[in-house]
Amino acid sequence: MAGQRPLPRFPEPDTEPFWEATKQHELRYQTCNKCGEIIFYARRHCPNCGSDGTSWHTSKGEGMLYTYSVIMQSRHPAFADLGPYALAYVDLDEGFRIMTNIVGVDNPVTDITIGMRVKVRWEDQGDGEVSLPMFEPA
Ligand SMILES: [Zn+2]
Repeated sequence: MAGQRPLPRFPEPDTEPFWEATKQHELRYQTCNKCGEIIFYARRHCPNCGSDGTSWHTSKGEGMLYTYSVIMQSRHPAFADLGPYALAYVDLDEGFRIMTNIVGVDNPVTDITIGMRVKVRWEDQGDGEVSLPMFEPA
């Protein structure tokens, strides 16, 4: 039986609004109220100007595959039974980049190409604590 993926441990004040939203399958990101920077992953302060005034937004969950690598085998118990899987960066249409997995393909070696359109597919974890944003071909 596969183990559980590493998951966030709460309380985690800076990123908890992001993880709370995943339960409703909402992919949230921040913008800076002062300089307009698009902020992802979730943080307390803007990485551009240092302001702590940020606003939350919900992404449509659509974007483009920026780059990827296929992991052929992993000894971590959560990944050992997966077979080859794709670790990827996806550029969301709203202007931020997320590290994720590409799912919903038969063969990640041949079925994934840089630049392809992808959309979010939520994978609920174990006891419903959080859901993880994966991406599949759009
Ligand atoms: Zn800023």
